[in-house]
Amino acid sequence: MRVMAQMAMVMNLDKCIGCHTCSVTCKQTWTNRAGMEYAWFNNVETRPGQGYPRTYEDQEKWKGGWTRHPNGRLSLKAGGRLKNLATIFANPVMPSIQDYYEPWTYDYRMLTNAPLQEHTPVARPKSLISGKDMRITWSANWDDNLAGGPELATQDPVLRKMSEKVKLEFEQSFMFYLPRICEHCLNPACAAACPSGAIYKRSEDGIVLVDQDKCRGWRKCVTACPYKKIYFNHKTGKAEKCTFCYPRIEVGMPTVCSETCVGRLRYLGLVFYDADKVLEAASVEDEHDLLDAQRDLVLDPNDPEVVRAAESEGISRDWIEAAQRSPIWQLIHRFRVALPLHPEYRTMPMVWYVPPLSPVVDSVAQTGFDGEDGDNLFAAIESLRIPVEYLAELFTAGDPAPVTEALRRLAAMRSYMRDVNLGRENPDASVAEAVGMSVEDVHDMHRLLALAKYEDRYVIPAAHTEQAHRLEAIATGCSLDGEGGPGMGGPGSSGGKVGLGMPRLRPGSKR
Ligand code: SF4
Ligand code: SF4
Repeated sequence: MRVMAQMAMVMNLDKCIGCHTCSVTCKQTWTNRAGMEYAWFNNVETRPGQGYPRTYEDQEKWKGGWTRHPNGRLSLKAGGRLKNLATIFANPVMPSIQDYYEPWTYDYRMLTNAPLQEHTPVARPKSLISGKDMRITWSANWDDNLAGGPELATQDPVLRKMSEKVKLEFEQSFMFYLPRICEHCLNPACAAACPSGAIYKRSEDGIVLVDQDKCRGWRKCVTACPYKKIYFNHKTGKAEKCTFCYPRIEVGMPTVCSETCVGRLRYLGLVFYDADKVLEAASVEDEHDLLDAQRDLVLDPNDPEVVRAAESEGISRDWIEAAQRSPIWQLIHRFRVALPLHPEYRTMPMVWYVPPLSPVVDSVAQTGFDGEDGDNLFAAIESLRIPVEYLAELFTAGDPAPVTEALRRLAAMRSYMRDVNLGRENPDASVAEAVGMSVEDVHDMHRLLALAKYEDRYVIPAAHTEQAHRLEAIATGCSLDGEGGPGMGGPGSSGGKVGLGMPRLRPGSKR
């Protein structure tokens, strides 16, 4: 066993209200620069919908992620090493600017300088590429709240995979929001595809980064990433991606998207995994076994054998304790409600999601029945095929069983805690037993999902205590703002500056 540490995130989708605050604050911090206008390290998609860039989940088209061959070996879907090199000067399998969107601004001067006239002046959209007037037909959140609309639903690659019967039942429409960042995968296709060796996974915390000095702009990573979370900076000619806000993480602060999340739905923490088993787990034959293989990679930080192995790898005591307090392991293993996004891409993504129960609750409530009642919810989870099948295509390679298990556990928590909160004398413990949980488990899961305080949601050990002071000095500026860093792009189209000071929070300080 070779124990390594990974910073991971879980997002509880029931709580996302689609406000896009996370996207905006991330953009202000990291990509408010020329060349990166269309880049959203964090974006929030409406589901069902096409996502961003549009239809990125259609890997037959975009060739992202890994393919498993009959002999059990994995190769990049876009082609192995030889094909990769042969196509180095022409890599057509890449989203065009139309698949992202043509960035624009508005001619705001019209609003203030237009002469007195009968009609209110209009600020026309102007292309940030050509400077000419343009018609806006697509953008990073064009699907916003339009889930299931007849024009858009049919173009959703996830919906296309679902059975005809479910598609025909689509009038029982539902929607939810899916916030996305780079998955900081354990088996990152982006790094494997880079001919320059510019993409690396930090050994201390698993964050995947692009070395800006080494990047030669081949853009193979853009093709290889099945989540399309690498962006090409047209000004610097280099690839850029989500950095998991590593300058903040190093000093024990949460990522900007997490810290500013209005729904407080993001959880951050360390997990330990067995690095010797990653390839084996990513190569299992049946796609439905990928979830369990990925779960099994994440080790129990309280297991004495794991602790000993972590110590022998030089992982410090404070990091081991942080892994033991991590909300991530609890949500993945103890409560079994967190699931990875598209495990079938075989990159072993490390941003996990608690699937939303709300579409089921709403459906029950709309029929006039009690949407908080355990039996009603259990029955609805079994019978409502649309949410379950759709969520399974997102989180379990199409296997409905783990999604059903997670939703039933969430439903049991909802039902049991309502009894408690209403002061009923004998809350119905059988509802917890029916989903294989104890009453204590239900209370603990409720505490974590519904009540958790700042320090429970973010359990982030500082990089190394002996270096903390120096790292803190870096984080109060922007460590990417130096010569050769992605910050060299200069002021963005909106005039934003790079390297704005970080919030004056200190490890352990609260909102
Ligand atoms: S999600 Fe991130 S780490 Fe995974 S392949 Fe894409 S860019 Fe690389
Ligand atoms: S800030 Fe939080 S609630 Fe708002 S869209 Fe982002 S993830 Fe959802």
